[in-house]
Amino acid sequence: MKCAYCGEELRGMFKKDLHGFGAHPEHAFQCFSCQRFVASTDHRLPDGRYQCADCMQKEVKTDKHVEWVETRVKQMLAAHGIDKWPNSLPIRLIQPRYTPGRPATQAHKMGETKVAKSIFSKSYEVNMLNHMHRIVFGGVLAHELLHVWQYERNIYLRSELTEGFCNLGSWIVYKHMATPVSQAMMTILERDPTPVYGDGFRIVKAVYDNLANGSLPDVMSQLKKM
Ligand SMILES: [Zn+2]
Ligand SMILES: [Zn+2]
Ligand SMILES: [Zn+2]
Repeated sequence: MKCAYCGEELRGMFKKDLHGFGAHPEHAFQCFSCQRFVASTDHRLPDGRYQCADCMQKEVKTDKHVEWVETRVKQMLAAHGIDKWPNSLPIRLIQPRYTPGRPATQAHKMGETKVAKSIFSKSYEVNMLNHMHRIVFGGVLAHELLHVWQYERNIYLRSELTEGFCNLGSWIVYKHMATPVSQAMMTILERDPTPVYGDGFRIVKAVYDNLANGSLPDVMSQLKKM
C-alpha cells in the first residue's frame, strides 16, 4: 500500500482511514468532509481545511445544489415515515467558526439547527458547513431535519437518544445513496467512539433493527419509553 499523501510505499507503522486509504502518521491529513486521507496535490481551502479531489468535484456550493440534495433527502426520509415540514425552513451554507487552538478539521460543526420559540410558533434556521461533498451534505442534512422534526412535535429526550435518532436519519440516507462514499460514512457513524453521538447511535440503531419495519416514528415511540 502507498501513502495517500506522498505516494511512497508504506512500511512499518502507518494509519488507515475508513475509505481504505493509508498514510504515514506524519502525512495523515483528513478531508474535512469525507474524512479520507488527502493527497499532497489535493485542494486546501483558504481557511485551512483539507478537501479531497472527489469532495471538491462534488461539493455543494449553490442554492440550486442545496435544493437538489434537500429534495432527495426529504424523499428518503418520507419513505421512513418522516414528513410534514414547517412552511419556512431555510437552509444556509456557512463558513466554519473555529475554536482557537483546535485543528481545522475538527474545529467546527458540519450542521446546526437553530430554533426560536414564541407562544404561537417556532421558527427554524438550518446552517450547513460550506464545501461539503453532496453525499456528506445529505447525511448531515438528514440529521438536522430530524432535530426539526423533534422540535415540531415537542419531543425532548436525553441527548444520546436525540442525537442517536438524528444519526440514524443520516445512516438511512447514506444507505439509500449506496455509493463507496456513503458506505464509508455509514462506517464512520457506526464506529463513532463518542458517548452521545456514537453510543447514542448504537442504542437507537438497535431499536430500529429490532422493529425491522423501517419506520422512524415507530423507533421514536420506543425511545420515549426508554
Ligand atoms: Zn507519506
Ligand atoms: Zn473528501
Ligand atoms: Zn444533532
